[in-house]
Amino acid sequence: MRYISTRDNTIQYSAAQAIAQGLARDGGLLTPFYIPKLPGKALEDMRDMAYQQRAVYIMKQFLEEFSVRELTDFANAAYGPDKFDSPAVAPVRTVDSNTHCLELWHGPTCAFKDMALQMLPHLLTASLVKTEEEKTVCILVATSGDTGKGALEGFKNVPRTRILVFYPKDGVSEVQELQMVTQEGSNVGVSAVVGNFDDAQTGVKRLFSDAALRQELADKGYFFSSANSINWGRVLPQIVYYISAYCDLLRDEKIAPGQTVNVCVPTGNFGNILAAYYAREMGLPIDQLICASNRNNVLTGFLREGVYDRNRTFYNTMSPSMDILISSNLERLLLALTQDTAEVAHYMNQLSETGKYQVGDRVKEKLQRRFKGYFCDDQETQRVIRAMFEANGYLIDTHTAVAFSALEQYRQETGDDTPAIVASTASPFKFCSSVLAALGETSAASGLDALDQLTARTGQPAPAPLAGLRDKKVRFTQVVEKEHMVDAVRSLLE
Ligand SMILES: *Cc1c(COP(=O)(O)O)cnc(C)c1O
Repeated sequence: MRYISTRDNTIQYSAAQAIAQGLARDGGLLTPFYIPKLPGKALEDMRDMAYQQRAVYIMKQFLEEFSVRELTDFANAAYGPDKFDSPAVAPVRTVDSNTHCLELWHGPTCAFKDMALQMLPHLLTASLVKTEEEKTVCILVATSGDTGKGALEGFKNVPRTRILVFYPKDGVSEVQELQMVTQEGSNVGVSAVVGNFDDAQTGVKRLFSDAALRQELADKGYFFSSANSINWGRVLPQIVYYISAYCDLLRDEKIAPGQTVNVCVPTGNFGNILAAYYAREMGLPIDQLICASNRNNVLTGFLREGVYDRNRTFYNTMSPSMDILISSNLERLLLALTQDTAEVAHYMNQLSETGKYQVGDRVKEKLQRRFKGYFCDDQETQRVIRAMFEANGYLIDTHTAVAFSALEQYRQETGDDTPAIVASTASPFKFCSSVLAALGETSAASGLDALDQLTARTGQPAPAPLAGLRDKKVRFTQVVEKEHMVDAVRSLLE
């Protein structure tokens, strides 16, 4: 299968090239030329498989150059019991008879980024071998919190890789920051950036396009790649868990074969919900995709009006991994809806020149048939956390709460009670102080003491990787202005 740039269909790569490069040379996103259909009885076949086997089955459809044997080794290493605290890997918890919560945070960093970032290093290092790349890959990551730690854990001590992570100094939770600055591994580097996530991401994009820096690093034997969700190797493993969740519901007889479901996803960069869209394109019976945003509701506006407008105030919210104004992966959806790389290039040009674009009526119609956008503020997020805990004894994090709010709004507005799968993207223990406040605790403890306080309040234990942070040493203390990120790269690669 060929992969093309979203902005130019004459730029074509193999899967291994696409994963090794991360981004097309024209700045577009490398995307499969077509989405393969699952064989007729695939869902039945996968019903009784383990998560790892389902992953191989699905990923193989997109990765012709990879053997089943290779993919099986990758899946077993990525999703093994030493990494995930649930044998189901991504278990589905039924909240009520037509609401099912897909828990994506049972991996080493307690957020859904692990689902892809435990797989990506395997795909990437194998891709480097397949493309005969001799240099060491230097992964640059801009993170709103969870990607950075996920990538650090995925790549730590992986031979022939270096990984540098930039996070916004005031845009991540205390636990998230501690997770990153205590990262172990001989090939890792972490730096804070003054500013918000978009500053960090723009800075990293600038590093990628800095020709002088690229040459300097090439002379030292490095080349840049990305672990951000623009890399196809990030999106692909995410398709798996939607199909897997459906198979679980079939297996447990909570839905009937062929029955339609809706999927609701708390969204930032649009990677996670895009994977659900691709699962649907492959043949998973999904009707509506409900896109949940926090107060940074640029996507809600886009889905309702067909106008993407990033010229708006940026808010720091209690769901920081969704504090994003440029949803990079939306570009791939635009390609799927237009089937026209020139049209996508046109929108992306407008976005970079004016911060805004408007899609045509045909695209808008297609968009609105499939996607529904809702958002909520922090107060509503807290209300949902509390209501969910009181009604069901189920503790959810701030991002997941935004999704449940969106689902509630959708159901109220439409009366549609189709079974819904809600993506739960982080452990509530990653966002202790917000969750504690939601539960009515007025004086939340700081730092890791908040983990104990949340356990005392709810009777639920903190996940081991978070409780274990207590014994870790801080290794990284650097803070840079965004103009000086290039110096940080040099010093971290020394
Ligand atoms: C990254 C992240 C999101 C947003 O996912 P996207 O793929 O960027 O849309 C939501 N919740 C959590 C906890 C995250 O870490």
